[in-house]
Amino acid sequence: MSATEQQLQYLRQLIDDAGRIAVLTGAGMSTESGIPDFRSADGLWSRDMSLADAVSVDYFRREPIAFWQAFRDIFRIKLVGGYSPNDGHRYLAALEAAGKEVTILTQNIDGLHGRAGNQRVLELHGTLLSASCPACETPHALDYVQQHEVPPCRRCGAVLKPDVVLYGEAVPLIDVAFEAALNADLLLVMGSSLEVSPVNLIPVEAIRAGIPCALINYTPTRFDALFDLCVHAGIGETCRRLAG
Ligand code: NAD
Repeated sequence: MSATEQQLQYLRQLIDDAGRIAVLTGAGMSTESGIPDFRSADGLWSRDMSLADAVSVDYFRREPIAFWQAFRDIFRIKLVGGYSPNDGHRYLAALEAAGKEVTILTQNIDGLHGRAGNQRVLELHGTLLSASCPACETPHALDYVQQHEVPPCRRCGAVLKPDVVLYGEAVPLIDVAFEAALNADLLLVMGSSLEVSPVNLIPVEAIRAGIPCALINYTPTRFDALFDLCVHAGIGETCRRLAG
């Protein structure tokens, strides 16, 4: 499905009128870069219902070796360097380059917003690009992690934990993210099912505070009725039309 001309015009207007734009992005932002999301028909979730368990902090603590095997598989960690930003990421970087104050609040852990050129990126669920020691906190880069099936800490030998927020862990940047959304003139939500808490409450709070909110997502979310505008269409196509 594509956005109607009327929807595009409204979206363009909302963006033109806003100086400060907060953008909440999810896994759907990166599917056009070749990284599967969790909840689309061909997403990772539909293939394996135990995914949330596999990327949970409990599993990491109980079975660190099995955790790393599953984690690598789920996030295709060996291929991480091979993915590139797509037209959606580039559109958001271009908005910033054109003088908008753009704050990206991303649930993604792939680093693609930063690589596209956005300067203000809050990686709410952390990053795949590094791992740290849960015992002595020594940080390790992805290059090192990729050299080991189960990466040990260089300093103390404990099994490293990826620097992602696992299921069951708190989201350390959540207060900053709410603040950024509540200080924006517009909140855009792109490529998220809005099923993961507490991040899915960001648009709810922004809407309650009277901030205009628009969503671009293939499929409806349970919060659609609250938004000023919902475009059920591809992010790349919609962004190309917005830019064109
Ligand atoms: P999700 O998988 O629950 O939902 C993705 C949504 O994006 C779906 O509703 C789908 O319809 C939509 N979508 C997919 N491709 C799209 C496109 N090209 N254009 C428009 N819409 C599109 O994702 P979520 O809400 O981010 O929650 C999943 C969790 O999994 C997040 O916490 C995230 O950290 C993690 N995750 C991250 C990545 C990544 O870093 N790229 C990938 C998979 C999962």
